[in-house]
Amino acid sequence: MTQPKIDDQKLGGYVEMSSSLENIVSLAKRRGFIYPGSDVYGGLSGTWDYGPLGVALKKNIMNLWWKMFVDDREDMYGVDAAILMNQKVWQASGHVDTFTDPLVECSHCKGRFRADKLDDSNKCPTCGSEGTFGEARQFNMMFKTHVGSIEDETSVSYLRPETAQGIFTNYKNVVDSFYPDLPFGLAQQGKAFRNEISPRDFIFRSREFEQMEIEYFVEPDKWQESFDALLRDIHEYLKALGLPQDKVHELEVPQEERAHYSERTIDIEYDFPIGREELLGLAYRTDFDLMNIQNNAGKSMEYTIKGTNTKFVPHVIEPSFGVERVVMAVMASAYTEDEVNGEKRIVMKFPEHLAPVKYCVSPLLKNKPELVEKAREVYNMLKKQYGNVSWDDNGNIGKRYRRQDEIGTPYCVVIDFDTLNDDTVTVRDRDTTEQKRVDIGKLI
Ligand code: ATP
Repeated sequence: MTQPKIDDQKLGGYVEMSSSLENIVSLAKRRGFIYPGSDVYGGLSGTWDYGPLGVALKKNIMNLWWKMFVDDREDMYGVDAAILMNQKVWQASGHVDTFTDPLVECSHCKGRFRADKLDDSNKCPTCGSEGTFGEARQFNMMFKTHVGSIEDETSVSYLRPETAQGIFTNYKNVVDSFYPDLPFGLAQQGKAFRNEISPRDFIFRSREFEQMEIEYFVEPDKWQESFDALLRDIHEYLKALGLPQDKVHELEVPQEERAHYSERTIDIEYDFPIGREELLGLAYRTDFDLMNIQNNAGKSMEYTIKGTNTKFVPHVIEPSFGVERVVMAVMASAYTEDEVNGEKRIVMKFPEHLAPVKYCVSPLLKNKPELVEKAREVYNMLKKQYGNVSWDDNGNIGKRYRRQDEIGTPYCVVIDFDTLNDDTVTVRDRDTTEQKRVDIGKLI
């Protein structure tokens, strides 16, 4: 279906969205999940702000990851490193020299594009001119800044383009303070920044985004078993997010497309509304990163197996998740249009544990103080237990249900005149729209 083009003025081009992505973007803004960044000033391309429901959804997604990959395990440790790091980190890791994408400019409209993401037609996506691109030049995607009051080469720093280096630089600290048995992992969640040439497709390719990464340290000849185990854990997490399994695909990345330090990479792709695209990556990075630190910082990164003289620099398996891409996959898989009593409805079928609001409580009529008072009691009880419970006494019950369906609230609880006699309430299920009478005492 041809869609109206959406002007992305800061990009100097246009972004075309598939119909279902447009529906999700519009619902996200209308209902307070995700807004364009700096919206009130006309926006800033590649940035997005989370509203109240988006924050709750994102936190649920990130907390589930932390629970499954850190809290529920004995072999994982959390870290939370500073975003600004010594420039030597990015020189040693190779980011200063090679963290680049090929950039081309259209000589007609001056639109700039990532050369490897253009189709074969050689036509400018903005103005349609043909053959107007010159030679591609390498564009470094790191945001450069200065630390302190003197702006010279020694004060240069970068907004980190990945959270991984904040983990590697703390490997030695954690070994010194905890001496965990191998294999063990360090996990981190946090912001990453990339000056993408063409941010596009809603939050899929942003300039500021969040990552959830693990560096899993192993004995060199045992990397394969940890790689396989982490791959299984990744699939368990994707299942727990409620993503349909037939939309999740493994792509074994061929050698010529892998980063030079990677001996094996599997990209997990997802059938997004924009097509099949990378959701996350799993890479075997050998001892590349720790050796770089050892050579450049001049400090030993060796690990000694306890009770022996066996020493070596551990090898690393890295699962790397982009939070925004997970949020987008969860929103896209939850978005459903169906019909109830002959009326079209939009319903976000989030798994209950991810839903931003768990219950909505309503008095049948808002001008009957006895109903409102009873409903407040029920609301307070549920709020104390679950936190994310909302109150809605606006409009008729049908409209309230539609509003809650659109934000994915699994249950609506209505207090009516029968409640005053028998202490039961109506609980309405989001997905089946079925209603049941339930004792207030059994609600929790
Ligand atoms: P792509 O090929 O899509 O640019 P990448 O291979 O450069 O991604 P990695 O460097 O492997 O990505 O980053 C790990 C993860 O971080 C990705 O799988 C993705 O989920 C997320 N990610 C990377 N770049 C972005 C971005 N610009 N916006 C949102 N998420 C991103």
